[in-house]
Order: sequence, then structure tokens, then C-alpha cells
Amino acid sequence: LGSRLTDAISNLSKTNVVDQEFVESILKEVCNALLASDVNVQLVVGLRKNIRAKINLAEIPQHSRKRAVHKAIFDELVALVDCKSEPFQPKKGKSNVIMMVGLQGSGKTTTCTKLAVWYQRRGFKTGLVCADTFRAGAFDQLKQNASKAQIPYYGSYTETDPVVVAKEGVQRLKKAGFDIIIVDTSGRHQQERELFTEMQQISAAVKPHQTIMILDASIGQAAESQSTAFKESSDFGAIIITKMDGHAKGGGAISAVAATNTPIAFIGTGEHNYDLEKFAPKSFIQKLLGMGDMEGLFDQIQTFNIDQKETMKHIQKGIFTLRDLRDNMTNIMKMGPLSKVAGMIPGMGQLANQLGSDGDTDYRMKRVLYIFDSMTEAELDSDGKILASEPSRIMRIAKGSGTSVKDVYDLLEQQKIMANMAKKMGGKNGMLNRMQQAK
Ligand code: GDP
Ligand code: MG
Repeated sequence: LGSRLTDAISNLSKTNVVDQEFVESILKEVCNALLASDVNVQLVVGLRKNIRAKINLAEIPQHSRKRAVHKAIFDELVALVDCKSEPFQPKKGKSNVIMMVGLQGSGKTTTCTKLAVWYQRRGFKTGLVCADTFRAGAFDQLKQNASKAQIPYYGSYTETDPVVVAKEGVQRLKKAGFDIIIVDTSGRHQQERELFTEMQQISAAVKPHQTIMILDASIGQAAESQSTAFKESSDFGAIIITKMDGHAKGGGAISAVAATNTPIAFIGTGEHNYDLEKFAPKSFIQKLLGMGDMEGLFDQIQTFNIDQKETMKHIQKGIFTLRDLRDNMTNIMKMGPLSKVAGMIPGMGQLANQLGSDGDTDYRMKRVLYIFDSMTEAELDSDGKILASEPSRIMRIAKGSGTSVKDVYDLLEQQKIMANMAKKMGGKNGMLNRMQQAK
């Protein structure tokens, strides 16, 4: 989905004249990209109608049209995934029970531990309950994941009634003063009455404060019926989309949100315990479109009178080095509320969300700066390609900075996004030059 949308958007930035014909052609591209990635047809039709209604070319001067079209598309895409409902806020010092539902293989068990880790890192005393007695080895899997993450758990090898295990587990963890108790349940390969009945019984027994449906990003068109069926039987209040790191087209996720009018709380982006990101509609769409709010960032830089002359010169030439990224980040740290500013940089919004606004943002940012500290001058002045092609350098940097190889690769990924952006913006025919001419 991402690459096709990015193409459509880059056509927008390349064009010189925005007329009705052009608007129609870009709308067509955007809609086809959505359809091809399994977004429900009716949704796409509605989206097209809304965007059209927002763009009244007769009222928009030529030089503002690009922006207007871009904004209309962006806003409507965001509206598709944004339910505007308040996210669930567990309270410390109280037992918050969270129940997971979903089909077999959707990623429930894996996500249980990820979520537990996420809350534990934020100071909640968190425990897991395995109420999957259907699948052999389910308890062992949860046990293994939980032990690795040092999360306490409860389960049984002998009790076969999931309702009994769920109730017993939640009771024990409540008594032991756990703030967050996450109940893993069994799935089936298909939507079966038996499964839905089981979910209702467990739900009645543990009275969850929040029920979350786990949805595999790759299920495509089936997302709608699956989420609707679960919604009816176990009225969930949030969705977690898993396997967003794979080749999933992701459109199913959008359809599920719309079909159930339920927000996505998190997305799973890998098999490891840290691969869980808080979902934020704007940055999700920004990422899909391959953009960050670059203009916002430039405004900010000017407002704060930050010395970014070198970087600006680079961008004008279509270049962006690791040193540019570092200087940007250092300056941004001076600009205050990180969660606000970081969202403007491509690739960083996601990072900011992941970190949350609860203080460890700065800690993580500092970690990233340590990575820069471990680079040589030549590496800093490069576009990062020599690093990506030499694993030994990555290892050296990870070790030197006390971070992980993945942290270093993540940083290089951000650098790549920025470099691509600079390439598009810079040069004679770049956006930047044309923006200046338009003024
Ligand atoms: P359950 O049957 O719903 O409990 O699903 P599991 O938690 O056992 O997950 C099924 C498979 O999906 C496992 O191999 C997981 O490692 C994998 N998985 C879960 N979430 C993700 C994710 O976000 N990304 C990737 N790549 N794999 C995932
Ligand atoms: Mg499972």
C-alpha cells in the first residue's frame, strides 16, 4: 500500500499544473492503491467522495492547490483509521484486566507478552494468565515468552476448562496486587460458534476492563467479517494489528477499524518483545505516504532560530548525511516537548509514539545520540550506505554505544528516509526550489 500511495503523492509533487483532470487522476491512483491492498470498496468510494468535496479548485489559487490536494488526501486517509475515541487508561494501584481475543495464529500469545512488557516498562506490575487450554503447548509457549521477559504468569497443565483457569488466574494475580492482568485465550482456525461462546464465558468470569482483538495484518478482505463477528460476541474496545513488519498490504486493518468503529491501540512489528508500537493515525498515514511534516519542521527551525545553515545547504543540494541527522536531533532536543517535534520528522513520529510521552523519550533520544558518538567522522559525513553494507561497522557502533545492532539499523533506516526526502526536495527541480519560486 505504502509504495503505491507514495508514487501517487510524488506525482503530485512533480506536477506543475493542478487542474480538475489532474485531481481526478491522482484520486484514481490513491483509490486503486487502497483497493489493491484490500481496503473495503465502499470505504474507498466514500473516501473519494469526501476528498472531492474538499477540493473546490475554483476557490483555490494555483500556487496553493498542491498543498490543498495533499492535505485533503492526507486528512481523509487519517479519518479512515482514526476513531477519535479515548484510549484505554489503566490505573496504577487497581487491577486492570485485559482480555485478548482473536483467531489462531493471529498473534495473541506473542502480543500478550509484548503488551505486558510495554506496561511493565511504564511502571505497572504486570502478569499474564494463559486461558488457552485448547491448543497443546499453548501454556508452554506463554511460559517461555513470559519467562524471557521476566513477567509473572499463571496457567495450568491439568485443568482443561479455560473458564476455570482464567478465573483462578485472575483471582490470584488480583490478590497478589497486580496492576495489569492480561488474559490470553485460545483461537480456532475459523470463526466458530464454539469459540465465541468460550470467549463470552471467559469474559463473564474475569470481567475484563478492556478486551482487545488481535488481527493479523495480512488477512486482507477477511478482516471485515472477522472483526465484525468478534465484535458481536466479545465486544472489544481496541484492536491490535500484528505482523505489520511483513509484506502485509495492511488494508484489512483499515477496513476492520471502519467496520467496528474501534480504534487500533497498537501495531505489532516483529516477533520480539519490543516490537510493539503505539498506534497513532497521523504518523501511520504519514508513514504510508512516505512523508514527514517537513515544512512544519522548517518552520520550527526558523522560529527557534536554530543554526541549520549547513543542513539547509545540504538539502538544497539534495544531500542529507548522518551528521545532518545528528545535528537535527540535537537541535530538536533543545526545542522542547519531544513528542511534538519528533512527529514532524519522517520516521521519527513512529519513534516518538513508541516512546510515549512519559519521560523515557529523552532517554531513548540520548541513546540514539550515543550511537552517533560511536561513529567516525567519515561515517558521520556519509549517507550511511557504507555502514549498511559493512556489518562489522554496525557491530562496532552498537558495542561502542551500548545499544543493539537493531538500534543502529533503525537509525540508518531513518537516515535513508531523510536522504530520500532531501533528494526529492533538493536540486534545481526540487520541491524546495519551486516552493521558493512560488513565494
Ligand atoms: P496466537 O495463535 O494468536 O496465539 O498466535 P501466536 O502468538 O502464537 O503467533 C503466531 C505466529 O505469528 C508466531 O510465529 C509469532 O511469532 C508470529 N507473530 C506474532 N506477531 C507478530 C508480528 O508482529 N510480526 C511478526 N513478524 N510475526 C509475528
Ligand atoms: Mg496462542
